[in-house]
Amino acid sequence: MTRQKTLRDKSFEYPVPSAGPATVSPETTEASKAAVESGLAQSLHVQPMTLAIGAAAAVILTGIAALSSGEKSLFVMAGLIALTATVKLVVGLVLRYRDDGQPGAGLRTTYLVLAILLAAFIGLSAGLTLHLTGPGYATLLVVGFATGISSGIAMRHAANQALVISQLLLCVTPTFVVCLLSSSWELHAYAALLPLLTMAMVGIARDLKTRLTDQIMASERQAKVVRDVQLQAGSDPVSGLWNRTGFIDAAAAVGRTLRANERMGLLWVDLHRFRTVNDTYGHDAGDRLLREFAMRLGEVAPRNAVLARYGGDDFLIACALDTPSAAETLCKNIIAQSNRPFRLNGERVEVGACIGVALSAQIGPVMPTAEIETLLRQADLAGYNARLAGRSETRFFSPEMSRAQTRSRELEAELRAAIQKDELSVYFQPIIDLSSGKIRAFEALVRWFHPEKGELRPDQFIPVAEKSGLIITLGNWITHTAARACATWPDHIGLAVNLSPAQIRAPGAALGVKAALHKAGLDPSRLELEVTEMLFVDDDDNTRHFMDEMAAAGVRFALDDFGTGTTSLKYISQFPFHTIKVDRSFISGPQIGPKSDAIIRAVTEMGATLGMDVCAEGLETAEQVDMVRDAGCTLGQGYYYSRALPDHMAAKLLDEERDLGRPLAASA
Ligand code: C2E
Ligand code: CA
Ligand code: CA
Repeated sequence: MTRQKTLRDKSFEYPVPSAGPATVSPETTEASKAAVESGLAQSLHVQPMTLAIGAAAAVILTGIAALSSGEKSLFVMAGLIALTATVKLVVGLVLRYRDDGQPGAGLRTTYLVLAILLAAFIGLSAGLTLHLTGPGYATLLVVGFATGISSGIAMRHAANQALVISQLLLCVTPTFVVCLLSSSWELHAYAALLPLLTMAMVGIARDLKTRLTDQIMASERQAKVVRDVQLQAGSDPVSGLWNRTGFIDAAAAVGRTLRANERMGLLWVDLHRFRTVNDTYGHDAGDRLLREFAMRLGEVAPRNAVLARYGGDDFLIACALDTPSAAETLCKNIIAQSNRPFRLNGERVEVGACIGVALSAQIGPVMPTAEIETLLRQADLAGYNARLAGRSETRFFSPEMSRAQTRSRELEAELRAAIQKDELSVYFQPIIDLSSGKIRAFEALVRWFHPEKGELRPDQFIPVAEKSGLIITLGNWITHTAARACATWPDHIGLAVNLSPAQIRAPGAALGVKAALHKAGLDPSRLELEVTEMLFVDDDDNTRHFMDEMAAAGVRFALDDFGTGTTSLKYISQFPFHTIKVDRSFISGPQIGPKSDAIIRAVTEMGATLGMDVCAEGLETAEQVDMVRDAGCTLGQGYYYSRALPDHMAAKLLDEERDLGRPLAASA
């Protein structure tokens, strides 16, 4: 109930911008009938042209009667009719052309009073003419006209029965009275017919009103059905927000109503760990979480914002933003809402979200729908970048993202071809036991020798492979190739293979690694899989299953690039890691100093307590080697010892070490 209220508070009727689609409200027939009737009453009679013709005819005919009879009172009547009709015409014009269609009640009452007065004057002039001039042409003209116009009045004011009756009575009563009081039997007959005629006209007017009301109600009902169908097609039943179809139109409506100092902001909000929630707590709980999050979004979104669920766990917000900091504040609030625990099946569940933001280029209204679609693409791209950056991150779209995307698309196509054409190789970089200086293992590092671009670094193409899903094929091939090479080395030499999160989450990941080991005839204890903290951003349960299964088979894990993320210590205690690889930014580079030294020492101490190896990456000088050894690192890796080498060179290195019986450091 609270959710409905919150969303409704920020919404208008479709297609005016709203938080989500307005709910379909069953109006009562009585209420809508009353609305149609009042609409008819307020609009039907306001026809200035017919009013002018009628009034002019009344003035002219009364004028003729006055002139032909010379009766003063008829001149006065003609003048009164002219005056009343002119004022009524002016008021009628104001009523008709007041563009808001909501003129004040006072104006309407004035109009009604004038209509009654006019009928009264026309009726009076007919009665007077008959009374003063007796039978003759003047009477024929004025009485005939009064009777005739009374039927016109009945039609014109059909929607207002009280007005019809009073006008008809005022038009015919004077003539009726004069006829009744006369001594002519013909006029008595006319007097007898006049009430019947009046009643007939009231009946016709009532009939007209009923038919018009029914017709209008029928067409309004039809329009409402169309609107409801549109709403249902454009809304998401789970969250109660728009779906992707409805969102574009609703966002376009926001775009059109932007003020001159505002930009359109489009936010792509992506929940973390939603899949795990679904798997762990069931789909009903997942739906509840989505609904709850939709409600929280509604609470922090600005007024007039449009909210949508873009399938799965992606949410969209379109809104007007007047300052750049407004977008940042909004993102902060959304992230805070996503980090507030959800209660599902009696348990606290934490998810979190990251956000991609796109802002319209110009300030002021955004007109074409195509612009909304562009913003949507940009927000998607920004969201992708936010996701890569890690948990609870926000990224604003920049044109470089587009260029990077184009480049990565080209690269993806080339990489696909390269895998087919065998342009890729696996190189091996030795990992050294710092106490003995001997090779402990080799880390497999993929290399791509591009026929035109030369050697491409993994950092250039691994992210592309990850995004496109190619990493699964590529990663399988790397594991197989590396395992085969390792099987040819002495038994005490291990193999480290890097695994991307996408590889681990792919169905049958554990089976794939086991198959590679089996095919190469390699003991699982010789393999160490290197994973980074990025793995834990999204999906803890699948990761845990994979790691537990591999660990049970005897495979070990290393936490790679330690120190580049944020919350590593938590993962070290929660997952079966055997090695921590301290990122090379702690060994060399601008950040290096007493602080990085203290961090390395803290990590090595923890490693010693937990019985883990701590490997220093990126060792390039003897001083660095001494420094990390003093700090307590057990393993080291870097150009000081060797770059990554092709398999035959790695084998040669091992041969040399064995033949010479001395550590690699001395030979470097
Ligand atoms: P990483 O796992 O941290 O790998 C170590 C990187 O540091 C390698 O770069 C290596 O060549 C480089 N390196 C080693 N010693 C030194 C040194 O003394 N100084 C400097 N400046 N650099 C050194 P590489 O091969 O370019 O790999 C980059 C990253 O690409 C890797 O970082 C890893 O995350 C990823 N990667 C490489 N091969 C694979 C693979 O087969 N599968 C997956 N999933 N990722 C891979
Ligand atoms: Ca690595
Ligand atoms: Ca690393």
